[in-house]
Amino acid sequence: MKKNRIPPSFFRACRAGRGRFVSNETGRGVLLSEKDHRAFAGGRRVAGEPGARLAAGHFLRENLDMPAALADLRSRYLGDWPGPGVHIVSLTDRCNSRCSYCAVSSPSAPASGGDMPAAMADGVVDFMFASGTAPLLLEFQGGEPLLNFGVLRRMVRRARARAAKEGRELHFSVVTNLTLLDREKLAFLAEEGVTVCTSLDGPAALHDAQRPLARGGSSHALVEKWLGRIAALRARYPGFEAPNAICTVTRRSLAAPEAIVDEFVRLGLERVQFGPLDPFGLAAGGGQGYSAAEFAAFYARALDRMLELAARGSKVYEKGARLFVSQLVGGGRPRYRNLDLAVRLAYGPDGSVYPSDEARMLAASGDGFFRLGSALSSDLRSLLRLPAARALLLSCFQELTSPACARCAFVPYCRVSPAYNYAAQGSFWGDMASSGRCALYKAVFGTILDRFSRPGSRRVLEKWAAYEG
Ligand code: SF4
Repeated sequence: MKKNRIPPSFFRACRAGRGRFVSNETGRGVLLSEKDHRAFAGGRRVAGEPGARLAAGHFLRENLDMPAALADLRSRYLGDWPGPGVHIVSLTDRCNSRCSYCAVSSPSAPASGGDMPAAMADGVVDFMFASGTAPLLLEFQGGEPLLNFGVLRRMVRRARARAAKEGRELHFSVVTNLTLLDREKLAFLAEEGVTVCTSLDGPAALHDAQRPLARGGSSHALVEKWLGRIAALRARYPGFEAPNAICTVTRRSLAAPEAIVDEFVRLGLERVQFGPLDPFGLAAGGGQGYSAAEFAAFYARALDRMLELAARGSKVYEKGARLFVSQLVGGGRPRYRNLDLAVRLAYGPDGSVYPSDEARMLAASGDGFFRLGSALSSDLRSLLRLPAARALLLSCFQELTSPACARCAFVPYCRVSPAYNYAAQGSFWGDMASSGRCALYKAVFGTILDRFSRPGSRRVLEKWAAYEG
């Protein structure tokens, strides 16, 4: 070996921004200029901050801090797995909205109209508390969960009592269209610290076109009204966190990224989150979809609008960019918030247990392929013995299952769920070389890294990365 050569340890690389992005098995990533990448790959010393990041990220075999690298690896591969912490409960199949892209409705299998009964709700809470030791998040979904508010209230109280008795950390959120909220329900959510997550697809015309109410009238007007009431109430309830909203991006949205961002800001929502259309339910029929390139162009314009507003002092930020950059600059392990079964479980109104909310939505639209068991008759230990459960846990690490991912530098930050693969490609593992979701993720990561390589927007992105949450 030549003197002064500093051989790199294992890494993956791809073109990104104005250089190359490299990542490794411990989940660390560094954006390098072309010149620095040539030096690094050629075993020569990289000067300055990029060199320091390579050393701290276990990229250099010289002076490799093996205990720190092993700790990162152990964390990345869930060596201390405490069981799933996110429990997504569908309280009802019913809904008062008729969204054009509804994931739980299907012309071939209309929603059953079932509500989760009280005894089943108790069973789900008990199942969740018996499923490991992770801090717990109980997220209420639907249909529209406010249509079964009595059961929501019951589950919050039962979970609170168990958490207090067992010393468990517990959080709540409810995903609601807000249109059935009233003062009494809002007071309960505020008192119990149940974070409100809603949908906002943009300005009124766009939102109402995509999210009409069954009874008519403007759903946007009601969202605006209740977001205002929540903001006013938060001063009295410090534990009542700021509400969040997600914008589902359809073909109609593509022309209006700036207007959508501006609407979030106007309604006091600092966090912007975009949801690409999933191929479930009504959205599976086509007509509302778009290519990965079209989504990427939309995303780039929206991100640029947020970077511009943030540079002028606005607190607005984009959730995906914040998470990605915080992993990049913070050096912490990627956050596996969406790992099926490993981090999250979902429950249908009948108590069926699914590895993810996508799998539960697929079942609600008529295909129960991913159902693992029932909260009343199974426990996590028995579910984990199922071959399907083991395949789902393996699917959390795509570098081990997909040849394309095994070579991709984004793999520590990325995952396409088996439910998506199954719905879009008819295969549990999917084929990433032809996957629309893989192409979309690559384009989004590339856009964020491109902005990260520009000094002005990098400053803003680093500021977002430091935000809590
Ligand atoms: S899904 Fe695509 S972008 Fe994600 S890690 Fe695999 S190859 Fe890379």
